Amino acid sequence: MRHVTGTLIAYYFYCKRRMWLHANEIRFEDNSEDVAMGKLIEETTYQERNDNYEQIELEGIKIDFYDPKNRIIHETKKSPKFEETHVWQLKYYIYVFLKNGIEDVKGILEYPTERRRKMIELNEKDKAVIENLSKEILMTISSEECPGLLSSLKCKNCSYYEFCYANEEEY
Ligand code: SF4
Repeated sequence: MRHVTGTLIAYYFYCKRRMWLHANEIRFEDNSEDVAMGKLIEETTYQERNDNYEQIELEGIKIDFYDPKNRIIHETKKSPKFEETHVWQLKYYIYVFLKNGIEDVKGILEYPTERRRKMIELNEKDKAVIENLSKEILMTISSEECPGLLSSLKCKNCSYYEFCYANEEEY
């Protein structure tokens, strides 16, 4: 059975075509400097705190830093450029924990480069949003039809650009 993942949630907000391509194993994600920087921030930020955290895998999501004592999921991001996406990814993780009987979990979103952190909670309205969003994601990625081009400035920074625009006018 297919599961919604944190990556699919992120791509849902970024571009539904990218979400479909990724879900259907057409992958062009790169090991760009941004990804490497994100990993470095994550590793160095938590270097001294690792003993307090567990790695958890549940229904297609993988949490690297879960604090079981305080029931907090920590997520570190390089920049707040896609903050809305980060918030919904974290709410989705809390939702999956809840579905699996782990209650009263909260999230902390951290932006070390800005020395900023944000507490994330899941309310009843969020649950309804996530349920609809999950249905839409599963329906889209199961379709035979790949969603059309986004034709947005986002395309220029996307690792799928060459693939998407090979036979198109440049955007
Ligand atoms: S290049 Fe544009 S249309 Fe293609 S996957 Fe990326 S964002 Fe979507």
